[in-house]
Amino acid sequence: MSTLSDGTYQIHTFFGAIHAILYSCILPNQSLGEYVQLFTLFTALLRASLKDYLRTENEFHTKINLLVCQEPTVAGQSKAIIGFSASAPKNIKERILEDRRSHLQILNEVGHHECPWPVGNCAEDETFAHLQKWRDVFPKQMNQLHGMIAVSLTLDLADMRPCQACRQCRNLMFKLRKQLTMTILDLAPPKTDGGGTKMRSEGNSSTRRSYGTFQGM
Ligand SMILES: [Zn+2]
Repeated sequence: MSTLSDGTYQIHTFFGAIHAILYSCILPNQSLGEYVQLFTLFTALLRASLKDYLRTENEFHTKINLLVCQEPTVAGQSKAIIGFSASAPKNIKERILEDRRSHLQILNEVGHHECPWPVGNCAEDETFAHLQKWRDVFPKQMNQLHGMIAVSLTLDLADMRPCQACRQCRNLMFKLRKQLTMTILDLAPPKTDGGGTKMRSEGNSSTRRSYGTFQGM
C-alpha cells in the first residue's frame, strides 16, 4: 500500500484482506457523515455475514476502526480507511504486530499502560499507519497539516458498540498529534453510565453506548 512507510502490506488474515480491498475501494472526498454511514453499513453487513464466527470468537473480540482525514473547509478534500484489531492465533498475531510496528514506528514509543493486549493490537494501529504518508497523497495545500483533521471511530464488530480509544491508543494519538501537527479526534462518546472514561474491554461486553449522527461535516 502506497501510504505505508515501506509501501508493502502483508495479508495474514481474512480481516487483513478486507483492509487491503477497502484501501482500494473507498472513494476519496466524501463528507465525514457519508464516511460514517458507509462505515456503519459496511460493519453491519460484515457482522451479519460473520454471525456464526462472531458467536464463537470470544478469544479475539474483533474491533473495526474508521479513520477519516479531512481538510476543514466546506469543499475540503478527504480520505478514509478501515482497519481491524489483530484478531488471530498467537503466532500469526505476532507477525501482524511486527508488521504494524514497522509501518508505524512511533508504536515502539507507546507504553503498555497495563492493558491486557500488546501495543499494536488495536484496530487504530492498522489505520493510523497511513496518516504519515497521506501528506504525500493529498495536494500541496493539504500538506499544510496545521489545518488537517483526522477523525477516528471504532466499533465492536460483535454488537456495533462504539469503543472509546484505550490508553495505548490515546497515547498514540497524543504522539501523532505532536509529530504530524494535526488534530486527531475520537468520535466514540465518553461513557455516560458512571462518569469518566473507562478503558474498553477486549473480551467482555459492557454497557451499550449510542453515538450521534454526523451530517455534512
Ligand atoms: Zn487501543
